[in-house]
Amino acid sequence: ARRLVDRYLAAHPDGGWLDPTATADLLDCYRLPLTTTVWAPDEHSAVLAARGLRALGHRNSAVLKAYWPDQVHKSAAGAVRTGLGTDREVRDAYREFTAAHGSRMAGAVVQPMAAPGVELLAGVVQDEVFGPLVVLGLGGTATELLDDRAARLAPLTQADLPAMVAELRTAPLLSGRPGNPPVDLPALHRVLAGLSRMATDLPQLAEVDLNPVIARPDGVLCVDARIRLE
Ligand code: ADP
Ligand code: MG
Repeated sequence: ARRLVDRYLAAHPDGGWLDPTATADLLDCYRLPLTTTVWAPDEHSAVLAARGLRALGHRNSAVLKAYWPDQVHKSAAGAVRTGLGTDREVRDAYREFTAAHGSRMAGAVVQPMAAPGVELLAGVVQDEVFGPLVVLGLGGTATELLDDRAARLAPLTQADLPAMVAELRTAPLLSGRPGNPPVDLPALHRVLAGLSRMATDLPQLAEVDLNPVIARPDGVLCVDARIRLE
């Protein structure tokens, strides 16, 4: 992880947002569960990537996301297309992106469509005074509507992990009830612990934003990640 960060900062002395490939590599160092994310620099690569995902047994359709440096809110900018089931749908979506976003678009990523669950956000932010904070909250489209978050200074203790989950108003959606199994809480705790380790290892880590992390009884999976270095 340190080598990856040093290499990035040597090439970008002012820091900034990592590209999709470096983002995936850094998350992998901490076993943070990003869904399969294939970089596709052009239309043909995107079609092949989606075909590859189908061949790997991802029966669900594909997701295509246009990428350009410093993008903020992809879905608001019309850069996310879900539910692409065929080569033609992937190709048409890529062409629509090219037409809409033009030359600023550096390429796209292809992901398998994840199964639905509770959409959470998890991440790291820097507090000017206290240093890195690990954050957990309600994610997806509800992020701005209901500001439901818990935050703790890194490094997190073992006791912080369930405490952060319990602190959310969303907690009843996660802990289950009769006829409704709980989400995989140990997997969610591992995400928080991984973020904590990442924040303490890497002083250059300015911001990590995993949103959504989709929490389900059979595991948790992040489908959108952004990392900024300073
Ligand atoms: P942004 O947050 O930049 O708008 P996202 O990549 O988070 O873009 O996509 C927006 C929404 O689309 C997500 O909150 C999620 O609900 C849905 N989504 C994105 N990627 C996937 C995926 N691979 N599988 C299922 N749903 C997805
Ligand atoms: Mg997102």
